Amino acid sequence: LYNMVQDLKGNIRVYCRIRPIFNAEAKNVIDHIGDDGSLVVVDPLKPQKDKRKIFQFNHVFGPTATQYDVFRETRPLVRSVMDGYNVCIFAYGQTGSGKTHTMCGPAGGLANELGINYLAVNDLFQLSDERKDIIEYRFQVQMVEIYNEQFIWIQKQQTNSFYATQYTYIPSVDFLTTNKLEIRSCASDDSLVLPDATMCPVKSTTDVINLMKHGEGNRAVGSTAINNRSSRSHSVLTVHVHGEDVSGSILRSCLHLVDLAGSERVDKSEVTGDGLKEAQHINKSLACLGDVIAALAQKNSHIPYRNSKLTLLLQNALGGNAKTLMFAHVNPEGDSFGETMSTLKFAQRVSTV
Ligand code: ADP
Ligand code: MG
Repeated sequence: LYNMVQDLKGNIRVYCRIRPIFNAEAKNVIDHIGDDGSLVVVDPLKPQKDKRKIFQFNHVFGPTATQYDVFRETRPLVRSVMDGYNVCIFAYGQTGSGKTHTMCGPAGGLANELGINYLAVNDLFQLSDERKDIIEYRFQVQMVEIYNEQFIWIQKQQTNSFYATQYTYIPSVDFLTTNKLEIRSCASDDSLVLPDATMCPVKSTTDVINLMKHGEGNRAVGSTAINNRSSRSHSVLTVHVHGEDVSGSILRSCLHLVDLAGSERVDKSEVTGDGLKEAQHINKSLACLGDVIAALAQKNSHIPYRNSKLTLLLQNALGGNAKTLMFAHVNPEGDSFGETMSTLKFAQRVSTV
């Protein structure tokens, strides 16, 4: 049933989420939020009526929307993973626009106001319990970060079981060069397969939270001015689902929960060295992601997965029967108008509405 509902709405959807204004002096660029997914923004320097910009998404969440409001609209998609569908959920937007808030919760804090990662995983375990007489589910989780087009992942230590948890972060070399923990290319479809050691079996939401806490604490730290610890890398939390029903038939699927690197354009005159390289990698990989989703939305025959590590990693969960949800995050303060426009244009391009 979940699938039927979702199929009617297509396989790619885009939600916009606007965070609250924190600076009391700031002008609000949001003019109107429609119940139908429409959004009207206004340039604080050109507030005339005819200069307003109108966008259309599947849904827009305003600044008062709660984490649960957001999850309620995401839940059917999450649940379809349990029926064998692959799902990708992306958080896109400039640094400070609320990506991590949506995915993890406030300040990476997992105590209250938990985000989609937690609510989704919790829901999967709940559904698994509800269906336990019909299907036996097993879950494994991978946490991977992509920084400067290189993979960094959490690895189980050989000596410890997952539950006694000691994780190490193993920076990989580029996957094309040799590495003891080389990321394999699947001969059949060229998709990437991460080392088995990155797979952590999980039995409860708490197991996943422990893994997430560890991962968040380790996200790469960069050096540009607006940096916070996580804004320069893509973080991918993948839940692999394995189900076996009473007749012995097997279902395999995965849910990718992706907190993307900040989408802000970096002024090339202000960053040099590492910062410039980071910015170029981020621009390129976000542009590639946009190209892939836009190509899928337009049902193109060629989908350019190979142009970035992120799209290669997620290849099996983008396109085909897979379902994609992009959250476009907006900081509504006047100073961010330029970034907001570029976020909304990016989101509109990958949208099918
Ligand atoms: P990003 O990950 O995009 O850089 P964050 O999620 O860290 O942004 O958000 C920046 C700040 O704004 C954080 O302090 C976060 O808790 C707060 N914030 C973001 N979105 C919301 C929201 N919808 N409601 C309340 N606070 C929010
Ligand atoms: Mg963040």
